[in-house]
Amino acid sequence: MFIDCLTIFPEFFVSPLQEGIVRRALLDGKIEIGVHNIREYATDRHSMTDDRPFGGGEGMVMKPEPLSRCLHAARKEGADSRVILLSPVGEQFDQKMAERLASHEQLILVCGRYEGVDERFRQQYVDEEISIGDYVLTGGELAALVVLDAVIRLLPGVLGCGESATNDSFSCGLLKHRQYTRPRVFENMAVPEVLLSGDHAAVARHRLVESVVLTLQRRPDLLAGMRFTPAERKTLRQAGVLDQVDTAIRTLAQEKSHEG
Ligand code: SAM
Repeated sequence: MFIDCLTIFPEFFVSPLQEGIVRRALLDGKIEIGVHNIREYATDRHSMTDDRPFGGGEGMVMKPEPLSRCLHAARKEGADSRVILLSPVGEQFDQKMAERLASHEQLILVCGRYEGVDERFRQQYVDEEISIGDYVLTGGELAALVVLDAVIRLLPGVLGCGESATNDSFSCGLLKHRQYTRPRVFENMAVPEVLLSGDHAAVARHRLVESVVLTLQRRPDLLAGMRFTPAERKTLRQAGVLDQVDTAIRTLAQEKSHEG
């Protein structure tokens, strides 16, 4: 996959791309990342990439011409490219979106600054606007790095054999269970006995219950439309949480039908 970031602060990307799984994916040739300095595509004497807003008001707006020239330079001819504008007014980024984006050959991530980009650039070139949350950052670079990181770890062969994305929080519809490692006792707190038992089925049941309880407490909305197998239902019944789960799923379904 090709990932291209359009920014006026290319240095922002140097360190995050040199660490961990992203670095390994780059070295293994699983991804190619291009960081393009929008300023290099400005044609006036001062390499201006922003200007005052028409109609007045505070701040500056990113000019459309350097952005469009930079985009043309970054786009891979013939590739299935998706142009994404990072923006607080975009659709909120989540794991499903990361999975969808991971199927494209090229992602072009446009990082805004100041008051954002000229609307005509968005209309003409942007396929989708993505927000990473309900807060305002000084620029799109951190948001682009969030999207890039979440997408890269989903690409085939990027995670090592000891790592897996399929059981992560959100991927299977639930929050992930808690984790423990050595020592067996830390500050008088012991690891749950079942995790030391070597009984893989019992461990799986314990983790399912932990995941479900955590999801009920923290993100019951994730349970909407969730289906458990008869064996899983039996485990949840034995743990005394099945009624709570069924009530949460029913309530969410009723809320959805009222909205519709
Ligand atoms: N005036 C804009 C508004 O109120 O919607 C905010 C502009 S912000 C200071 C500058 C840039 O940061 C945006 O163009 C966008 O690229 C990026 N940005 C800020 N918050 C973001 C968020 N929550 N998600 C994604 N990008 C964000």
